[in-house]
Amino acid sequence: MQKTRAFLIAIIMTLTLSTFNSCRQTTPTVEQEQTSEQMPWILDKFDDIKVLRYEVPGFENLPLNQKELIYYLAQATKCGRDILFDQNFKYNLTIRRTLESIYTKYEGDRTSAEFKAMEKYLKKVWFANGIHHHYSNDKFRAEFPRTWFSQQVDKYVDPQELKIEKELLYNIIFDEKLYSTRLNQKDGVDMVTESACNYYEGVTMKEVDKFYTELIDQNDPRPISYGLNSKLMKDEKGNIVERTWKLGGMYSSAIQQIVFWLEKAAAVAEEPQKSIINALINYYRTGDLREFDRYNILWVGDNVSNVDFVNGFIEDYGDPLGRKASWEGTVNFMDSVACRRTQIISENAQWFEDNAPIDPAFRKKEVKGVSAKVITVAMLGGDCYPSTPIGINLPNADWIRKEYGSKSVTIDNITYAYDKAAQGNGFNEEFMLREEDRERIKKHGKLADDLHTDLHECSGHGSGQLAPGTKGGELKNYTSTLEEARADLFGLYYLGDPKMVEIGLIPSLDVAWAQYADYIMNGMMTQFSRIELGKDVEESHMRNRKLIAEWCYEKGKKDNVIEWVKKDGKSYLVVNDFQALRKLFGELLKEVQRIKSKGDYEAGRKLVENYAVKIDPELHKEVLERYNKLGIEPYSGFVNPDYELVMQDGKVTDVKLVYKYNYTEQMLDYSKNYSFLPSIN
Ligand code: ZN
Repeated sequence: MQKTRAFLIAIIMTLTLSTFNSCRQTTPTVEQEQTSEQMPWILDKFDDIKVLRYEVPGFENLPLNQKELIYYLAQATKCGRDILFDQNFKYNLTIRRTLESIYTKYEGDRTSAEFKAMEKYLKKVWFANGIHHHYSNDKFRAEFPRTWFSQQVDKYVDPQELKIEKELLYNIIFDEKLYSTRLNQKDGVDMVTESACNYYEGVTMKEVDKFYTELIDQNDPRPISYGLNSKLMKDEKGNIVERTWKLGGMYSSAIQQIVFWLEKAAAVAEEPQKSIINALINYYRTGDLREFDRYNILWVGDNVSNVDFVNGFIEDYGDPLGRKASWEGTVNFMDSVACRRTQIISENAQWFEDNAPIDPAFRKKEVKGVSAKVITVAMLGGDCYPSTPIGINLPNADWIRKEYGSKSVTIDNITYAYDKAAQGNGFNEEFMLREEDRERIKKHGKLADDLHTDLHECSGHGSGQLAPGTKGGELKNYTSTLEEARADLFGLYYLGDPKMVEIGLIPSLDVAWAQYADYIMNGMMTQFSRIELGKDVEESHMRNRKLIAEWCYEKGKKDNVIEWVKKDGKSYLVVNDFQALRKLFGELLKEVQRIKSKGDYEAGRKLVENYAVKIDPELHKEVLERYNKLGIEPYSGFVNPDYELVMQDGKVTDVKLVYKYNYTEQMLDYSKNYSFLPSIN
């Protein structure tokens, strides 16, 4: 039944919705540039968030079968949204639906303070896929009164649909101490019971560790990613059991929809992609993690398909123990012009590996399958939406990466949109002391960022190897931070290599110096604008940047490589010696690689705890004050475009790219038409 419903909803005939010319080329014609510039890049702003749009240049020129494939994959991408809501917190779907009921049915004054505050809260819940901030993981504070809210619930919410006690609902929203953080990775706490995420229930960290330690075969050279696609909890008898996310298992009704659209996609895909999609479908049917490995091996080997996608339980950042994966999806196609850039990096991958400033024992003898490409993203879903990464490097299983390589992409239409939205916001003028640094960033900033991302994704994550006897996973809760640091350091080190000029990637090392000045400033100072005063750095990418910058500052102190400068009561960071800084990046890379290769948990823990976590409160306060004066929202996310089938005599004759600009409309549309899970799962 549900299949038919979803299908009918999707076959929407092309209406008179406005479209616009979305072509963006390296040298745009005057008309194209004008068209593009007339559209606002920022569609909505609330709290610490701004919502942007992105364009999908080149879609119109794709052949019909590829457009159709993108359409079906895009549908599959939209169908998993509820899964992520539920993974993030057990009561997220209940809360979202309650808020949406009030929001859509409300008959009172929509400009009243209470309603406005609830609207803001709902927008934040949509953005974070739940009631905890997508970056800080802290629970949102409701700025509307509890009594007012309970009146609205009584008036507009069907008691049949509210699956939990009202008191509990109100306590979750209004009691600050209850479920206060989605992810607690503080040293020494029970990270499982202290985190509100829904990957575990009724079990302690000790029990989880024991459960998986017993499951894992320490001698398997191709270890299964146990726990990746399941919730761990206790059954009625008190036995610890996994509830697997698969057809017929947990999240079945959403997975059924995903599979439905994947089958449509497989029908129009060509080989090898057809088999790849079928392997994924089979994994969703069985929940068998060996099947997931088989799918990943096929997927990573496919470098010929122009259209590509990610769909499944992929990243483990949302699990305090780094084992369970959140659902995400993207659909993309090749950006052939920008691909030239990463092709050069790919061609030189072995040179990078052979010359890496690390212990030769940890260098890969043969760098395999560094598939480097730049993509244009066509749809974002799950954990990639609305907040989205600017690069993807998959698969995650170390042994597959080692034997089959990994696929790395950078998403150019997203970085392009970021760049456009950020122009002229006054940020560099406020935080960067030297005119020469600001000039370099103005001139080379986009290229420097792109290349750093390319190097990070194409070569950084894929480089190096584990020492014999190291399985991966030894670094536990420090894994992501150290892995991100390793990839970032690889990128930073090589960005400043004369080789980059030699192979034509950059006109001069000024590109690298632009990135260095920016990176240090961000790592030791400006990124704190994203953190509430008094809080530590928690997110692994932020930790990694702080770790690198602080470590280099300390180690370069005697030579004054990086300097704190005070001017007119404001603090600035100045890099005095770029070459010396590059050397320090190399030294730290060597150490982080050693830690990963050896699985040296203690050394990894010390690095992170000493350099990456604590913020000087005086500095933090100053950064927030200066930043807030600029009125910039620190976080951005995106509204998706939409795709509509054009039908004639029962046949698909074209697929139209449609831009729906309103953030609220899109969220309500997804909640209405792509919501397949019960409120409690
Ligand atoms: Zn990374």
